[in-house]
Amino acid sequence: DPIAIVCVGMAGSGKTTFMQRINAHLHAQSKPPYVINLDPAVTKVPFQSNIDIRDSVNYQEVMAQYKLGPNGGILTSLNLFATKVDQVVNILEKRTKGKVAPIEHIIVDTPGQIEVFVWSASGDIILGSLASSFRTVIAYIIDTPRSTSTSTFMSNMLYACSILYKTKLPMILVLNKADATDVSFAKEWMTDFEAFQAALREEEEGKGEEGGFATQGSGYMGSLLHSMSLVLDEFYKHLSVVGVSALTGQGVDEFFEAVQEKAVEFEKDYRPELERRK
Ligand code: GDP
Ligand code: MG
Repeated sequence: DPIAIVCVGMAGSGKTTFMQRINAHLHAQSKPPYVINLDPAVTKVPFQSNIDIRDSVNYQEVMAQYKLGPNGGILTSLNLFATKVDQVVNILEKRTKGKVAPIEHIIVDTPGQIEVFVWSASGDIILGSLASSFRTVIAYIIDTPRSTSTSTFMSNMLYACSILYKTKLPMILVLNKADATDVSFAKEWMTDFEAFQAALREEEEGKGEEGGFATQGSGYMGSLLHSMSLVLDEFYKHLSVVGVSALTGQGVDEFFEAVQEKAVEFEKDYRPELERRK
């Protein structure tokens, strides 16, 4: 039974490089995946895709024809693609059920502008169609070197949390660029709130602000942070977290273990929920 892996993340987090890496990894295991590129604006894709949104929609022309800016162009391209998603799923079903070398993984790259995909009706339709036919997991790619401050880390986690809530699909947090930054700080912050608070305190003191909000544990920011920590604690319990380098390939085996885990969860917890919402 095939698994669809949808890569989402902020622009520059390394989605495309990660796609290239897991694609190569699966090829090396003689399990070539089915590859889908949904980023209409990308100029060079470093991997061979089976389905590429750019084959059916010309992003530059869409922008010119409808007089749109970059985000409008991506959104409209996605809308046009969404009208064909049934055909795409049909093709996928044939390829994954084929008697000859059936596909085990479908991997999907998404536009640089994460919000355009996650918060649009067409993104919804595309994800919904995939998830109604295949076990589907989200790989949320994080630019770890750019998330080392408590505030960017917290913002990124809240964003990931909102995506989990929005898509209602199991999620793997991919702490990417582990070759550049040791990911253990992030894992610690996610398992030990005391450690996170200590880091907050340190950063506040580093800024030389007297009685920084986090130091006091009182006032609205103190209590807001406390409440958010409870939310995030609950959120973290639902995640698999892996440190990966899309560049060097470290952690990719661990990522695929997490994929298997989440695929089982999809069957058990998410599929019944999706059925109920139909
Ligand atoms: P996307 O916008 O999310 O698709 O990100 P890209 O895959 O285009 O990568 C953005 C930048 O991050 C590029 O310069 C990549 O070379 C770099 N990058 C991606 N993955 C890694 C990684 O694992 N380690 C390092 N050091 N750089 C990476
Ligand atoms: Mg990309």
